[in-house]
Amino acid sequence: MSVITPTSGSPMNSPVWVVEVALPRPIDQFFTYEIQEDQAELALPGCWVKVPFGRMSAVGVIVRAPKKIDDVKSLGFTQVLKKVIKVGEVSDQIPSLVFKLCQWASDYYQSPLGELLSMAAPLSALSSGVNVRTQLPQPEISNSRSGLVLNDEQRSVLSAITAEPEKAFLIDGVTGSGKTEIYIERAKKVLAQEKGVIILVPEIALTPQLESRVREGLGVPIAVLHSALSDGQRRDYWLKLKSGELRVVVGARSALFAPMKSCGLIVVDEEHDASYKQEERARYQARDLAFVRAKKEKAQILFGSATPSLETLERVREEKIGYLKLEKRIINRSMPKVELVNLTDEPLIAGIQAPFSERTIEKIKLTLQKGEKVLIYLNRRGFASYLVCLDCGEVSECPRCSLSLTYHKRKKKLVCHTCDFHSEIPDHCKGCKGVDLHPIGAGTESLEDELPALIPEMKALRLDRDQVTSQTRLKKILSDFSSDQYNTLMGTQMVVKGHDFSEVTLVVVVLADGLFRWPDFRSNERAYQTLTQVAGRAGRGEKPGEVWIQTFDIDHPVLSVILGRISREDFYKSEQELRSLLHYPPYGRLLRLRLTHDTESVVKKEADQIVQMITIDPEKTDIEILGPSTPMIERVRGEHRMDILIKSSQIQWIHRAVKVAKKMTSNFKSTLLVDVDPYGVS
Ligand code: ADP
Ligand code: ZN
Repeated sequence: MSVITPTSGSPMNSPVWVVEVALPRPIDQFFTYEIQEDQAELALPGCWVKVPFGRMSAVGVIVRAPKKIDDVKSLGFTQVLKKVIKVGEVSDQIPSLVFKLCQWASDYYQSPLGELLSMAAPLSALSSGVNVRTQLPQPEISNSRSGLVLNDEQRSVLSAITAEPEKAFLIDGVTGSGKTEIYIERAKKVLAQEKGVIILVPEIALTPQLESRVREGLGVPIAVLHSALSDGQRRDYWLKLKSGELRVVVGARSALFAPMKSCGLIVVDEEHDASYKQEERARYQARDLAFVRAKKEKAQILFGSATPSLETLERVREEKIGYLKLEKRIINRSMPKVELVNLTDEPLIAGIQAPFSERTIEKIKLTLQKGEKVLIYLNRRGFASYLVCLDCGEVSECPRCSLSLTYHKRKKKLVCHTCDFHSEIPDHCKGCKGVDLHPIGAGTESLEDELPALIPEMKALRLDRDQVTSQTRLKKILSDFSSDQYNTLMGTQMVVKGHDFSEVTLVVVVLADGLFRWPDFRSNERAYQTLTQVAGRAGRGEKPGEVWIQTFDIDHPVLSVILGRISREDFYKSEQELRSLLHYPPYGRLLRLRLTHDTESVVKKEADQIVQMITIDPEKTDIEILGPSTPMIERVRGEHRMDILIKSSQIQWIHRAVKVAKKMTSNFKSTLLVDVDPYGVS
């Protein structure tokens, strides 16, 4: 479908050429522009174009080679078209393989092609021509790595993947079993064949060590893509990857679109990680899309994890992916010992916000006294501080989102972590006018104040999103923690991702319950993955580690598997049975349609209409409709939300439902958000 872009007038003598452009806008349409004949010759699909858009200009991508207007009159437009302002050089053209990958993703995820293409290439930086020569750190001859010899287990995995260079593999290996070294060794061979390497990691900003490890390991400069790059740097890396000057890229999910000519290896490290699912603008699952790219390009793809996703295990079962296991941690490093602390039974420390048993505090003290380090993990999501009225029980909520506001003691503010609303701390309750308002629960801030007061030996550092606003800041916190100045690191999700702290011998999970209380079909799987990852932070050095998990729910199956009371296979099996019974992924396809509007009654009525329409669709086959329902977070930035969840065994029926919904909503007041393979259902 095309939208015509009328303009005030243009002379119509020689043949007029038109071109279809995908713009990075949340619309499922291409735009047609007039293009001069001499520009048309250079206007190849995948080239960027600058075009007038509304009262501004926009940079989009040419979708199809230009045509003479007479040949496309059948499109039925009679208006005069706006004209292309500028066309990009062929050297900026998005390679056809990447372009096709975006088209595939656009069809599958029902995401606008223009948005996907703008993630695949730095369009505005290319078109504005900002010229930056990034200083590329050159590899040094590293002493730490030069003597490294793969152990037997690593070597047998390496020879298996090398023997079948186009086959996909899952490398299922505990944290610290040496997976990264295997990726590096495999990548060396691929580079020697003049092919490129893409290494995807969940959050590159959180793993600054990886960058130098890969660079030193491969002995070549590499591109590192992360969200903190300037436009100019992004352009520079993109052009260098395209020209072949750089052949290795390490980055978060969008690095999968790297424009290298020929890619021989894609690594998806921590393949189970939820951050591979992009939730904003164009939705896509980078792990799955990387698999599609590898197939198209006949590249090898390696998925690495200590706690594989059920999706990937299902592909292993279907024999689409080979399976290799690393059983052991690198020599001398045993798995940490896990200790459960039953908060309902044990005496708790009085007078602090977070629940801590006396025994846990004693353990932390002892560890620090021995000169060892401690990591304290708090699952903020289910466990931040809220302000509660002790008279009537009312919790201070965000006026725009139906979420409790988080209490920030230091800033003396209440903050909404979804829409960023800030307010002063009220002196009385809105409900009953009572003045007895108290923060309950514990954010990382209260821990930072209260624990060192209890434990004089503690020299604490905090790591969470509020702290880490830049990569430099993150590097500073991580390097401070490895110095003698600090012995305790406390924080949220960020402390568990990938870091390799050799002096940490104790990891404390303040309250595990928040992890498995999230109403989502993946919550057990994710709780298991998170706790395993947390545990993996302990005992990475020579000394053995311990993990202390505090909970009010001592018999939870996730804790049983962490403790080894039930086997991982049995835990996975029971999760698989449940999912298969309820037709949840990977045993069925899932689609979430979300409607948003600032009036609740509108969004409710229109959601009902969609359900009705999909229900009576004559072409409807094999789908199950759940809802409409109000999601966990009912309202964001003043917009009410209603969700419709659709299950089916086949992607084509999912796509059919999307088609019906899109058609209907074109004259709805509400906005429709389509999420194929949604990650959370709440
Ligand atoms: P994973 O990626 O599975 O968590 P890594 O590859 O990061 O494991 O290895 C964990 C640690 O062990 C790293 O510090 C790494 O340098 C070291 N290491 C890995 N393989 C070997 C080996 N064969 N010999 C000595 N040290 C190794
Ligand atoms: Zn809010």
